[in-house]
Amino acid sequence: MATTRIVILGGGAGGLELASALAHRPGLDVTLVDRVGAHIWKPRLHEFAAGTVTSTLSEISFYMLARMRGFRFEQGSVTGIDRAAREVRLAPPDVPGAAGSERRIGYDTCVVALGGITADFGIPGVREHAVRLDAKLDADGFRDRFVALLINARQTRVPAHVVIVGSGATGTELAAHLRLAETAFFDRPETADQPRLLDLTLLEAAPEVMPGADEELRAGVVRRLAELDVTVVTSARITAVEPDAVRAASGESWRADVTVWAAGLVGLPVLATLGDFAIDRKGRIVVDAFLRSTVDPTVYVLGDAASLTPEGAPQPLPPTAQIASQEAAYLARSLADRAAKPFRFKDKGKLVSLGGAGTVGLVGISRNDFFVDGQFAKAAYHALQRRHQWQVLGALRGSVAILADVISPTRGPALKLHG
Ligand SMILES: Cc1cc2nc3c(=O)[nH]c(=O)nc-3n(C[C@H](O)[C@H](O)[C@H](O)COP(=O)(O)OP(=O)(O)OC[C@H]3O[C@@H](n4cnc5c(N)ncnc54)[C@H](O)[C@@H]3O)c2cc1C
Repeated sequence: MATTRIVILGGGAGGLELASALAHRPGLDVTLVDRVGAHIWKPRLHEFAAGTVTSTLSEISFYMLARMRGFRFEQGSVTGIDRAAREVRLAPPDVPGAAGSERRIGYDTCVVALGGITADFGIPGVREHAVRLDAKLDADGFRDRFVALLINARQTRVPAHVVIVGSGATGTELAAHLRLAETAFFDRPETADQPRLLDLTLLEAAPEVMPGADEELRAGVVRRLAELDVTVVTSARITAVEPDAVRAASGESWRADVTVWAAGLVGLPVLATLGDFAIDRKGRIVVDAFLRSTVDPTVYVLGDAASLTPEGAPQPLPPTAQIASQEAAYLARSLADRAAKPFRFKDKGKLVSLGGAGTVGLVGISRNDFFVDGQFAKAAYHALQRRHQWQVLGALRGSVAILADVISPTRGPALKLHG
């Protein structure tokens, strides 16, 4: 029986689920490529950054997973796709001491699942002075700075100033988790009435927080942010980020010991230079209803790297793990079934985790919509990651990982102080 070589570029929320689902299928030879050696569940990056949840339980070695699930893993940054030769080009592994030169991996089917990056909109100072939460390294770097700021604030009694730009799910959730992390630095954490160590400001360019979100969800978020003593400023069009301040077109400025930039996702710059793919205005590769790139039916794209506009929809699907995961499940079926139907996204709703202040959200987007709050919402919030752990680790190991995660002492208000 002839084998089909499937090469998956990027082992994130979508790519790793696809590799795990396809490995061991008869007639398939599956290779997963990632620039780093361990997988991380990106939707919890802000919690790792705040230190309210440890990343160690959510970080899994690609090398171990490859052995466990039965695919091959290649570490290295993807630099290009040679469509004529059906080869992927990889830079040497970025691992200190590792030997290597540029590599080429042949494929019959290639799946691009390289994710996205936070947009800087060309605003001066964002790249140099703001933290963008795109990878684990960013979360680790932020946490070190945050811990140092709170140690100083505890000694000097002068609160540290953290400014977050962008009031989407990432910005609002990060604000809530930082407020939760602050309690670990109180002299008597058990006492509610403590002087503040952290001054939190959330800036939004639109006239309202969480632009585009459901009205009820937005109202819940605004209420929770007020309870958390987060200063929210809307219609703040930022023109510059400086080492210690953020400036707006209105002339206003806010003191910032650290600035987090969380103002929307675009495709990775490498997508535009991978080959001759059609790229949308947000830098993502345009795909058809079967997730095939419009220029080559042997190259598929999923997740944040893909620009898929469902029939009749005004714009492409947004970048979410929920969509990446459903696209991976779809490709796991359709790559084996040539007569597959087009991909259809089933929206399971949106949930926002606000740390100790609970989770607010809207489940379901149809007639069965209902607004959830409190403990049920919290369980629903984690359901996406639980599903991912099952998919990637298998039922037995997935259950053990979930149990370890649930009973981990670093969950909740405890604070992780070391990388
Ligand atoms: C803080 C935060 C909170 C979020 N919360 C939610 C949420 O609650 N719900 C939700 O649905 N979504 C959420 N998201 C969005 C979600 O994380 C993404 O939509 C999802 O991870 C996209 O999956 P993906 O497989 O396309 O890419 P990713 O998960 O980003 O994976 C991309 C992979 O490609 C690798 N890679 C990148 N460049 C290269 C290269 N050149 N060569 C080789 N490998 C490369 C990366 O190392 C990574 O492993 C959140 C995102 C953030 C940042």
